[in-house]
Amino acid sequence: MVSDLSELGNFIDGAFHFPAGPTIDVWEPAVGEVYAQIPDSDAAVVNSAIVAAQTAFPAWAALEAEQRAAYLFQLADALEARLPELAQAESKDTGKPLWLAQSVDIPRAVRNFRFFASALPHFASESHSSQGFLNYTLRQPLGVVACISPWNLPLYLLTWKIAPALAAGNTVVAKPSEITPLTAYLLGEIAIQAGLPAGVLNLVMGSGAKTGSALTADSRIKAVSFTGSTRTGAEIARVVAPKFKKLSLEMGGKNAAIVFADCDYEKTLETLLRAAFSNQGQICLCMSRVLVEASIYDRFKADFVARAQAIQVGDPLLPDSRLGALVSLPHLEKVRSYVDLAIQEGGSVLCGGTPLQMQGRIEKGWYFAPTVLEGLSANCRTNQEEIFGPVVSLMPFESESEAVDVANGTEYGLAATLWTNDHARVMRLSPVLQAGVVWVNCWMERDLRTPFGGVKMSGLGREGGWDSLCFFTEPKNICFAQ
Ligand code: NDP
Repeated sequence: MVSDLSELGNFIDGAFHFPAGPTIDVWEPAVGEVYAQIPDSDAAVVNSAIVAAQTAFPAWAALEAEQRAAYLFQLADALEARLPELAQAESKDTGKPLWLAQSVDIPRAVRNFRFFASALPHFASESHSSQGFLNYTLRQPLGVVACISPWNLPLYLLTWKIAPALAAGNTVVAKPSEITPLTAYLLGEIAIQAGLPAGVLNLVMGSGAKTGSALTADSRIKAVSFTGSTRTGAEIARVVAPKFKKLSLEMGGKNAAIVFADCDYEKTLETLLRAAFSNQGQICLCMSRVLVEASIYDRFKADFVARAQAIQVGDPLLPDSRLGALVSLPHLEKVRSYVDLAIQEGGSVLCGGTPLQMQGRIEKGWYFAPTVLEGLSANCRTNQEEIFGPVVSLMPFESESEAVDVANGTEYGLAATLWTNDHARVMRLSPVLQAGVVWVNCWMERDLRTPFGGVKMSGLGREGGWDSLCFFTEPKNICFAQ
């Protein structure tokens, strides 16, 4: 191992480098202190990563599927062997509870590699025969691809892209968020431990504006898989579109839960508390708008607020802390500004609404109380814009059609949830909800084989299962006269 956790360098061509030049501070949100630096890598560094990936590509692409799968299994095993350390790193970097990183983030990163390693040998190509001709379609790797991920689920989302890209025979230059680079740095160490050939996976550190844009603009990059905000996705699309690269965009959301009076009340309440506040509300799939049928609205509101107030916010290292810190001070200020906006827009704060002053080790950390709002119009900015924090807006509705109109009435379309025991209603409403994912009586249940992604301003393309392997390959049809 080569860990020096004060300088988190780039991992290029199988080795770590910390180039001279500007650096970016890396903060620990739980305590509000800087603990490391990363390089703000420039185009020259990005170039060296792309050259390494290009050099490694032919041999990697030429391996048999089982051989590449074996490397991915080795990566999964090496990750799993370091799970406690990786979970600590993820918690330190993001402010999320350690138990959450231990039970969700890192196990999912392990699973991402295992899932695509297992899928690869079954990834068959198509053939079509007609009179006198046989068409068969090859699925060939693209070359060097870019994987760019956000700060909320750092290793989980980065590996969700890297695993299928490598499985399909591409080599990768990946950029984690400058806000949460630690587990990506450790992934470089794990690649060495797993014996991954040099240059197959490269990790470049730096800001989106400098490092990220140098990566996406480079014409040697054949595809960009991006998860992050809609604004950044639009900027990447603007740069990439004229170069006609393959582009997958997983972006923001303003997800609606629709709660009917005939739901399983207790299960709905408990699951929606998780859906609203997990990871401090910093999951693209969080339900930030909860629409409740008018006949149960008052009861639901009282119970939801009482339980939101009881959620323990605290030191991410303590097992009783259900919520930890927000990821950064600017993000905390953004969340606070949306509560101020909600009040200006005529809303009431039913609970929370302010940062929390903690004591002891975490007194300088960035904590925000779980916040429930009501009384806001469906069209106001608070109910339209992504806040990405522990803030949820409650709204009553009278009819199915009203609920669907409100749920669909934003520019986003990532996920929606329905809470009802009326199966005919589920069949009626699921198709008309403008969302890439509809969960019925559950939330964030992820079968990795299913297509995942958003519609409208939430996304372009789908990830998961064959969709990921199709994205990271180019079909080539060969028509053979028999
Ligand atoms: P950002 O869009 O700010 O950043 C995402 C990544 O893009 C980061 O690595 C960032 O680097 C990089 N980046 C920024 N600018 C550029 C650029 N011009 N060119 C290339 N790369 C760039 O998102 P956040 O990190 O703030 O993440 C939160 C957002 O992610 C929310 O909107 C959330 O909804 C969305 N998200 C969507 C998911 C989905 O599956 N649909 C899942 C999880 C999150 P840096 O941070 O270093 O600037």
